[in-house]
Amino acid sequence: MEQELSCEQVIEQLLAYLDGELGEQSRAAIDRHLSRCRECYSRAEFERKLREKLQEAARVPAPARLRARIDDLLNEY
Ligand SMILES: [Zn+2]
Repeated sequence: MEQELSCEQVIEQLLAYLDGELGEQSRAAIDRHLSRCRECYSRAEFERKLREKLQEAARVPAPARLRARIDDLLNEY
C-alpha cells in the first residue's frame, strides 16, 4: 500500500532525506511528494544548496586566517 505523505511529514524528514539516512520506502515516498508538490520541492532544493555551501565553507580554513588578520589589524592601532 502506498503511503501518502503530508507536507509536514516531508519537511520533518527532509534533512534525513538529504543525508541519505532514510530507508528506500521513505525515500521513495518523499520523492513522490516532491515530484508533485512545488512548495516542498523548492524547500528541498533550498536545503540542498544550503548544505553544499556549508560543506564548501567547511573545507576552507578561512575563519582562522581571518581572525589572525583581524588581530594583526588591531595590534597596529
Ligand atoms: Zn508538500
